[in-house]
Amino acid sequence: MAGNGWSKRSNYSRRSFLTRASQWSALFAAYPLVPLPELARALSEDSRVGQTPVVDKGFAAVRKVGDGLYATISDTSKGLATMCNGGFLCGKDAALLIEGFVSPAGAAFQHEIMRSLSKAPVMGAVETHYHYDHSLGNAYYGANGISVWAHTATARRIWESYAAMQGTDRAAVVGPLEDLAKAAKTEAARQHATQYAAAVGNIFNATNATVIAVPNRPLDPAKLPLKFDLGGVVPQVETYPGHSGTDIIVRVPEQNVVYAGDLLFSNMYPVTFDQQASVSGWRSTLRTFLSWGKDTIFVPGHGQICGPEGVQLSLDLFDDIEQQAQKFHKAGVPAEEAADQYVVPDKFKNVGIFSWNHTIGPTIVKLYKEWA
Ligand SMILES: [Zn+2]
Repeated sequence: MAGNGWSKRSNYSRRSFLTRASQWSALFAAYPLVPLPELARALSEDSRVGQTPVVDKGFAAVRKVGDGLYATISDTSKGLATMCNGGFLCGKDAALLIEGFVSPAGAAFQHEIMRSLSKAPVMGAVETHYHYDHSLGNAYYGANGISVWAHTATARRIWESYAAMQGTDRAAVVGPLEDLAKAAKTEAARQHATQYAAAVGNIFNATNATVIAVPNRPLDPAKLPLKFDLGGVVPQVETYPGHSGTDIIVRVPEQNVVYAGDLLFSNMYPVTFDQQASVSGWRSTLRTFLSWGKDTIFVPGHGQICGPEGVQLSLDLFDDIEQQAQKFHKAGVPAEEAADQYVVPDKFKNVGIFSWNHTIGPTIVKLYKEWA
């Protein structure tokens, strides 16, 4: 009896391992449509920016972007320990980490590199918003006595969105989305729905592979901005609308460096699927980012470090989606159909798309609502 039990269990494990492995390769296929570009020329000539990374592990590289300021830039084509970008700030008296990443291994990687560069005590880790790729590694911080700071709503939304996925049947989460793909009326709609189901399946897997931990230092948005003096390095935490309803950024005005979280996707279509994402709010946030001047360095939530041209591209992408959506709207095409009909113009053909129904589709649906 016992023998049978064990053999059943090992078959099950092997099968679930293989399923997981193939789902991760699907993510490799779906997510990094665009390889991480080189630094733009303006940044490769900027004296604040290290011309070679401090460390390059493939899945992420750490690069200096200012005095005591570092960016952790993920390359998802080479691995998924971190998945999003982050960074850290080291002053004489204290250091501050940014992001919990998609796995504890990702958070551990960044902490280890920071430790090799600074012995200052860590005052905490700032999480720019609740999404899984920025928060599922939080347990590493908990295990190492590092506080996690985030928007007041972040803990609740991590719990509602991801803890709810643990212990549930994968088929119950992904099955209905696959059914939607099968029922799609057009080939484009079928492809977009299939890609969405695969992306949600990957989120399910990443969620079930971790021990969820939530931020223990809520930042009341009404009390932001909040300034920290790390000793010669003075970042401030600010909040802006747009991507998730929980978005905060870390800005260092004295050096004109901004850790933007997912309020900035560099050379990628903005991800707007969140129920609390706001296209109009996001556009106004991007205009605020531009107001900080030509020499601002942005560490985006995803993609390569950029200057204001990366912010301008995001605005141009919203403009292009809006122009096409307006034509559909005038022609009486319902929002849900228009969402699949946008055509990526030639000039944007090298711009990444995380998944259509996380980016372009919901942007069109939200624009329709804004016009109503
Ligand atoms: Zn996000």
